[in-house]
Amino acid sequence: MKLLEDKILSEGEVFPGNILKVSGFLNHKVDAVFTVEMAKEAVRLFKDEKIDKILTIETSGIPFAFATAVELGVPMVFAKKHKSSNISDDVYVSSIYSFTHSTQYDVVVSKDYISKGEKILIMDDFLANGKAILGLIDIISQAEAVPVGACCAIEKGFQGGGDLLRKKGIKVESLAVIDSMDDTSITFRK
Ligand code: 5GP
Repeated sequence: MKLLEDKILSEGEVFPGNILKVSGFLNHKVDAVFTVEMAKEAVRLFKDEKIDKILTIETSGIPFAFATAVELGVPMVFAKKHKSSNISDDVYVSSIYSFTHSTQYDVVVSKDYISKGEKILIMDDFLANGKAILGLIDIISQAEAVPVGACCAIEKGFQGGGDLLRKKGIKVESLAVIDSMDDTSITFRK
C-alpha cells in the first residue's frame, strides 16, 4: 500500500535490534482516518474469503483490527496478554515469544468468544518472526475454528516470519513489506 510505505518513510524511525518505530500513527498515537484506509485495503486483499470474526492481540493490533471489523461488519476479539501462571480452564492459552521484549508470554482468549468452525482472520500491526501469528493460529486450532489468513500492517520481510507462514500454506497479506532497513534507508518489497 503506497500510502503506508510513504508514511513509514516520512514518520518511521529505525532503532537498534531491527525495531521500526511508528508510534506517530500506529503504535501510540493512532491516525484514525488512515487506519480506516488500511482497513479498506485489508478488506480488498481478503475479499474472496468468508470471514466470521477477526482475532488480534493486544495492544497495537487493536485499532487496525477494529477498523477492519467495522468495514466487514463482523466482531473482533483481541487475545489478552497474561502474566500470571494461574490460568483458568475457561480460556484458550498459547505461549508466544516476544520479539520486541525478548521474553515468553501467554495470551488467552475466552472459550466463549471463538466457536468451532468459525472462519477467523488474524490481524496484527507488525509481522516479524511470525511467533504472534503462530500463537493466534494455535488458539484458533484449539477452538477447532478455521484461520482464513493473516493480515498485518507492516511485515519486516527480512525476518522471515511471513514467508515461513506462507510456506505452511497460510494466506498472509501485509500492507507494506520491508525488505531491508537501517537508520538511513528503508527498502520495500515490490
Ligand atoms: P513476531 O511475533 O512476528 O516476531 O513479532 C510481531 C509482534 O512483535 C507484533 O505483535 C508487534 O507488536 C511486535 N513487533 C515486531 N517487530 C516490531 C517493530 O519493528 N516495531 C514495533 N513497534 N513492534 C514490533
